[in-house]
Formats: sequence, structure tokens, C-alpha cells
Amino acid sequence: MRLVPLEIGRVVTQNAVIDGSDGATVFPVPSWLIEHPDGLVLFDAGMHIDLQTSVDRIGEATASRFTPDFNPGEELGARLTSRTIRPSDITHLVLSHLHFDHAGGTQEVPDARLVVQRAEWESGQDQKMIDYGIYNPDDYDHGHDRHLLDGEHDLFGDGRVVCLPTPGHTKGHQSLRVELDSGPVVLTGDCVYTEQLLDDDAVPVFTPERAVPQQRESMAYLRSLRDDHGCRLLYGHDEDQFRALPAEGLT
Ligand SMILES: [Zn+2]
Repeated sequence: MRLVPLEIGRVVTQNAVIDGSDGATVFPVPSWLIEHPDGLVLFDAGMHIDLQTSVDRIGEATASRFTPDFNPGEELGARLTSRTIRPSDITHLVLSHLHFDHAGGTQEVPDARLVVQRAEWESGQDQKMIDYGIYNPDDYDHGHDRHLLDGEHDLFGDGRVVCLPTPGHTKGHQSLRVELDSGPVVLTGDCVYTEQLLDDDAVPVFTPERAVPQQRESMAYLRSLRDDHGCRLLYGHDEDQFRALPAEGLT
């Protein structure tokens, strides 16, 4: 088994969005490739290729907060082919949630089975959320075979790739535990953007008020996986951590 970080561009945002402070932050936008003996899995798909040239598809509210920094050759399909993987060979696309910087590359892996929490898929069909620009079905709704989950799910039945619900940031957010030979790793998605936020117990600014207790619970769960169960956490948008990962991945 191997876990490889793919960088599907970056997003630049004002710190006011994250923690209320001044300045700007650059977020890497990751897709994680997991090479399992029984399949090729991606956790998240990064941004839609159209964002390389225009922000039209993300709507004004989002575009006012997040500026994509995304160049030709950084889209998911190109990242895979540069590793000599055909995009059609991806067997599973596990989505942490359906926001534009996680689900936008879905159409680039046409034969993958989507693995999404049912609550998240339903949010992604909610017309109000779509009108508000929180979700865009053109990111994820392309007729892929779908496996909608109602909780924890062991992808191959061997305990090596396991979906873990971590709701709060969105209703059906999930993280992914990967058992490498070097030890267990948990991809946190947007439940935790950066290690600093987890250590500060800082709930991301845009978490809906009613979801704050649930978000805190999910963060506490991930923290306990790290502190009590020896899991290495790989955060959703942690630039320092992401840059320090070996390009050939972890085994
Ligand atoms: Zn994100």
C-alpha cells in the first residue's frame, strides 16, 4: 500500500476567514491517491479544471473569500497521467464532502465508484444550498456509480481503508483511515484544516452555529485517534505539513 499526495492547485484566502486575523493564507488543495492491492482509491478530487481560467462556477460569495491559484497540468487527470496512471483506472473516489475544492475533479475519473456519506449527497441535492453556491451538482453529479454510506465503512473488507464520519463542517463530512505498513494514517479532510487549528481547538469560522457542537465532537475524535491510538493525521489544507510530505508518498 502506498499513499501519495497530489496537489490540485491552491486556494488563497484571507486569514479573517480562518481565524479572524489579518493577512492571507495559501491552502494546498489535495487529492490523496491510495494504491491498494484490490483497487486505486482517491480521497477527494480537488478543483474543477474550469477554475484555471474563470471563477464563474463557484459563485460570488465563495469567490469573494477564496481565490483559486490553479494552473494547467495541476488538474486531477494530469496529476494521475504524470504518474502513469490512467484516470479510468481509478476504482473508487471517496469524497470527504462536496465543496468545490474537494469534489470539483470528479468528472476526471469517469469509471470510479463514488463513496459518499448519504447525508452529504442529500445536502448536495438541496436546492437552497445550490442556489446559495455552497454546492454545485456539476462538481459531483455526473452519473457515476454511487455508494452512499450511513456511517463507518471498510472499503475492501480488510480494515486497511476505512471511511470515518466526522460531521460538522458539513452534515455528511467524512475522514479516511488508511493502514500503511508504517502505521495508521487518517486523512482529516476539512474537519481539520491545519494542525494548529486542532491544537487550538479552533472551529473554522464558517461552521454553522448549530453544527459547532458536532464539529467539536468530530475534532475531539480525530485528536484522540492521534493522541491515544497512534494515528498520524494528515490535515485538509495544512501547507507546512503538505510541503514536507515525500512526493513518492508514504508506505
Ligand atoms: Zn476544503
